[in-house]
Amino acid sequence: MAAKKKQSKGTNEKNRIFRALGLKARLKGANCGGEWFAGSGDHLETFSPTTGESLARIEQASAADYAKVMKQAKKAFIAWRALPAPKRGEIVRQVGLALREKKDMLGALVSLEMGKIRTEGLGEVQEMIDICDFAVGLSRTLSGPTLQSERPKHRMMEQWHPLGVVGVISAFNFPVAVWAWNTALAWVCGDVALWKPSSKTPLCAIACQNIVNEVFRANGLPEGISCVTIGRGSTVGELLINDHDIPLISATGSTRMGQRIGGVVGARLGRSILELGGNNAIIISDKADLTGALASAFFGAVGTAGQRCTSTRRLIIQEKVYDTFVKKLIANYKRVQIGDPLDPGTLMGPLIDEGAVADYEKAIAAAKKQGGKVLYGGKVLKPFGAATFVQPTIIAIENKAEIVQNETFAPVLYVMKYKTFDQALKMHNDVPQGLSSAVYTDSMAESEAFTSYLGSDCGLANVNIGTSGAEIGGAFGGEKETGGGRESGSDSWKAYMRRQTNTINWGGEVHLAQGVEFKA
Ligand code: NAD
Repeated sequence: MAAKKKQSKGTNEKNRIFRALGLKARLKGANCGGEWFAGSGDHLETFSPTTGESLARIEQASAADYAKVMKQAKKAFIAWRALPAPKRGEIVRQVGLALREKKDMLGALVSLEMGKIRTEGLGEVQEMIDICDFAVGLSRTLSGPTLQSERPKHRMMEQWHPLGVVGVISAFNFPVAVWAWNTALAWVCGDVALWKPSSKTPLCAIACQNIVNEVFRANGLPEGISCVTIGRGSTVGELLINDHDIPLISATGSTRMGQRIGGVVGARLGRSILELGGNNAIIISDKADLTGALASAFFGAVGTAGQRCTSTRRLIIQEKVYDTFVKKLIANYKRVQIGDPLDPGTLMGPLIDEGAVADYEKAIAAAKKQGGKVLYGGKVLKPFGAATFVQPTIIAIENKAEIVQNETFAPVLYVMKYKTFDQALKMHNDVPQGLSSAVYTDSMAESEAFTSYLGSDCGLANVNIGTSGAEIGGAFGGEKETGGGRESGSDSWKAYMRRQTNTINWGGEVHLAQGVEFKA
């Protein structure tokens, strides 16, 4: 392991990234297409997780700023929903093109502000581009079925109509892609979107908004189709989730946040899409290709410094291959280059902040108390001075240990043994969360069992690939404490529209359903 670089590339690249994306040292936190504004007098400072240096200060949106944004969003919805869906798709196509042009700089900003390595920052922008392409196709295929009526000369059908202003709340770890998954779909569905990004990554949100503003402006569209409010959860966040004018809140973040938002939105009978924490495992069978399993477990656990909702947190390994596999994994861990996320040689960047490092340390201490044995890692590193870097860590422990049952958002991997495949499945499902899961096996019976109703209880269940790195074409989300929401591909778009059943009598005679007679 090496953590020797002293000068962060981010410091040198910051000016170039800022210039390309319209960022400055002083910014304001509210926008609906025109000038940025804010009048709270309350400033948010954003820091590089790599060096701890201040990147910018943003005046946060006040309650009055929120009201101004919402007024504009509601007005824009009336105009936007009237545009035919394929025309809305054309705008989203242009957003995808603009993102292609800015991919390098936006990807670099993700690395600078969030700390994921350059290739992952670029990958995140690629996800945005992919979902735009998907949404463009969708804009011509949003459809409902025609149904058979029991009444003569009647036709039944379903239509999907735009919903309104969609509130998007995003987590720090995917500071641009999560917004795009929601917003590109919402836009082609005829909705307008109001984004409250994580306070840990406000610059990513400002940069995205600047990119789409140019597209909307060039097309002469009204302000308010894309809106952002950067502000405290206790002000802007609470206003958003309590707002009866927002029929749908899509919220990505911790289970604790989801419980609060789900409760508030549910109490006003609004809709929510909840994308919450995971506790993802790979079962590694003795009938598996161990080379592939090693590559997937390594990326799943160490990639993004363990800060993906789909990060691999548990390995459930058949006892015959356990020792060999863990030994090889440790050898890989020893080679991890930890350092500046903008340096192409780096494999693992920092955690988001010192609070995340404290959680990492607490988890390791708890694991030790609960019978765990640290097989590798466990130390905090300071290659650039800030205490935000950690060693990726492997701990041998039982699945039932309390710490294993909770998501720690850091590169801590728990390894455990199983004897029979049934035992492995039981351990696999015996956690409160249900996001992503995988099995490595060449046995058809094990693979089928894993994806069957008897198998994984997660929203994503993979065979011979890891838990991390979903494609946008599939519906993304999880069960149990992960919240049950689905975003991105497949038919997830339905959550962003309202369904209407139409019955049309084209024969003239009135027939009551179920043969009811009602004549005076
Ligand atoms: P977090 O819960 O701290 O914050 C997420 C967002 O919720 C932020 O924008 C925050 O400001 C907002 N928020 C918090 N309380 C709010 C309130 N009362 N009203 C309105 N908004 C409020 O999460 P985080 O630390 O940013 O992200 C990490 C978590 O997100 C992990 O648990 C991870 O698994 C999860 N995550 C899940 C998915 C998924 O798709 N399932 C994807 C990415 C991240």
